[in-house]
Amino acid sequence: MRAAVLRIYNADLSLESVPYPVCEADGVVLKVLACGICRSDWHGWVGEHPRVKPGQIQGHEYCGEVVEAGPLAKWQVGDRLVAPFILACGACPDCQSGNQNICKTQRLPGFVEPGAFAEYVSVPFAHNLARLPETLSPVVAAGLGCRVTTAWHALTGRAAVQAGEWVAVHGTGGIGLSVLLLARALGARVVVVDVVAEKLTHALGLGAEAAIDAREGDVAARIIEITGGGAHVSVEALGIEATTNASIECLRPLGRHVQVGMPVGHTAHMQINMNAVYMKNLALFGTRGMPSWRYPSLLEMITRGAVDMTPLIAREVRLSDASAELRAFNGPTSPGVAVISDFSG
Ligand SMILES: [Zn+2]
Ligand SMILES: [Zn+2]
Repeated sequence: MRAAVLRIYNADLSLESVPYPVCEADGVVLKVLACGICRSDWHGWVGEHPRVKPGQIQGHEYCGEVVEAGPLAKWQVGDRLVAPFILACGACPDCQSGNQNICKTQRLPGFVEPGAFAEYVSVPFAHNLARLPETLSPVVAAGLGCRVTTAWHALTGRAAVQAGEWVAVHGTGGIGLSVLLLARALGARVVVVDVVAEKLTHALGLGAEAAIDAREGDVAARIIEITGGGAHVSVEALGIEATTNASIECLRPLGRHVQVGMPVGHTAHMQINMNAVYMKNLALFGTRGMPSWRYPSLLEMITRGAVDMTPLIAREVRLSDASAELRAFNGPTSPGVAVISDFSG
């Protein structure tokens, strides 16, 4: 089968013919219908992700059609499924308590095992998969990727955002946009921050009440002014020091900071304003992924029309375009997510 393989960091992925994947007993093999391209892939592509090594087939935001099902998998050939990027074992105490996203034996196609920048992908622990609603296109479903699931869990499973609260979003890439759309659907008021004027305009068109260009001075002070005392919840969606501090400092007393951006490589250790955390009695949440049992609540909200996720998708591309899309993350990006929907070349 055709796959785009990471051979050399920061260089074009190598389009190769690789062996068809092996189906595991509790897993399925999916014919990939669509796969999102994500900043997490970029972290791997540049060599900053601790687990992504040369030889990796990346791609962790996929949906597809079952072409082979293991004897212990509950799915059947022809089922159309969407996967969370964390595949949890389902049996350990963390999984049993509903926290599958912290499962210690989790499997990670696209980071450790072969991912979905390929025509087919093997998915172990297939109980994590959810049926793709008929009204949801595979491209949008793949575009939900890690960003919408992570955003959903950050807002509802971690920060417990309430209607009427102010949510600040630092960084309006895929995950920031997801936070904006979902927070609006939950009845929250949203202020976004970015350094790309086009993205700020895009966010205003999607329901943000205010949009701040971070190049124009003190972000936190302006958010405190706009929100009449500070945001109740602030989401850092980039994983760097400046935005993390702006996120913490823009909160009102008792506010909740959620670290959604992935601090890796040179940003793994940051200088954080812990005095603001102390003085304002803030709560800091880390979050990564979403327990797979929460998929139905998210998909139901989308299919009943409470939130439209199509604005997330910027463009459909071919497998051979993945390298250019990864390279684009080297600089400021335009709004929305690229999704591979053509795996023929
Ligand atoms: Zn587990
Ligand atoms: Zn992702």
